[in-house]
Amino acid sequence: LALLSSFFAIYTDGPAPRGDVAVPRGIELSLAQLDPLVVPGVEAGLFGPHANEIVRFKPRAGYLLSLQRDTKGSAGTFFADAQRILAESVERMNGWGLDVLKLYPFPLSGVSELPDDPFAEDLISVGFHEQGDHGFRAETFGLAKLGQREISFTFSGTELLEDAAILCSHLADYAMGQARRVEHKQTMSFGFDKLLFLAAGGDDDVGPSRVWHAPLVVQLLPDTKFPGVGALRVLSAVAGAEQPRSDLTDVLHRALEQRLVLEEYDLTGESPHQSTSARACDCLGGANGLKGERREPQSMKESGWTFSCVNPGVPHATKLVTLESLAARAPEILKYLALPPGCSLLWTPTGVEVDAHKARREDEEDSDLG
Ligand SMILES: [Zn+2]
Repeated sequence: LALLSSFFAIYTDGPAPRGDVAVPRGIELSLAQLDPLVVPGVEAGLFGPHANEIVRFKPRAGYLLSLQRDTKGSAGTFFADAQRILAESVERMNGWGLDVLKLYPFPLSGVSELPDDPFAEDLISVGFHEQGDHGFRAETFGLAKLGQREISFTFSGTELLEDAAILCSHLADYAMGQARRVEHKQTMSFGFDKLLFLAAGGDDDVGPSRVWHAPLVVQLLPDTKFPGVGALRVLSAVAGAEQPRSDLTDVLHRALEQRLVLEEYDLTGESPHQSTSARACDCLGGANGLKGERREPQSMKESGWTFSCVNPGVPHATKLVTLESLAARAPEILKYLALPPGCSLLWTPTGVEVDAHKARREDEEDSDLG
């Protein structure tokens, strides 16, 4: 059974946090002294702006504030409640706190500066380990708060760090938005691409397990409170290929290119998935030229895109194709696919002209949708 959890280790000169704060129905609160007093060291690999400071603090006492609720109902409400309960519990206290599953320390005096209403991305830390010639391995800390297994994946190129973090937030957002969690062998779309998740311990890795969690997490949290959620490796499921790819460089590179195009035109948008449909003529590209236009998709199965030639020899119609087959024929369209409905594209000898004046921008009123 998946649980929503927030665990805070609280380190002080002695005083205990308050345990008698008002707790909404459904949330289980417990406050216990850490015995033995487990203090994070340099090797804990903490995240955030205070990672070095907390390691220097020599506390006299430590406490564990545990807040848990089942996944029914809004996860956002739970984490906002957890934040408020923490703030009340340590009000006017000095010392350090640690968001245990996120491995994220904060000064108790600065609790009010933590987000009141955390977004999915605020719940997690993402660690990047350099692997020499093999690029990076990314690893999340904090998806376990959502009862979601932590994830890891590999890629190459420092320019992809941000998009790697966005991929992790995407999964946190998914788990925060619904009661289901991503499990072994499940797939999920990530923009144009399809991700495949495999249990870190293989097919036998089915139940709760603490072996994949950071040593500090295991030391601080009793297994009665945290049986562990385990971990998933993220791969890229490539259409037509038998084996999924364990390197996400291509996936992240596509996401980066699409994001840069959106930023260039100050637009927000999402890439349609490769399985969605588009309309295209047979003769697009090459000598006949290439243009594109995105309209509002009429269903989840449509991308909204039409691509065609500019100068057809004879009048002809467009056909329904999958975006995947179209991108294989004309890979130059890929980086523009996330542009929102209302955008049109024209390939010229000097580049691509993007006309976005009909696209809805985020700062416009919803009534402009018409
Ligand atoms: Zn044509």
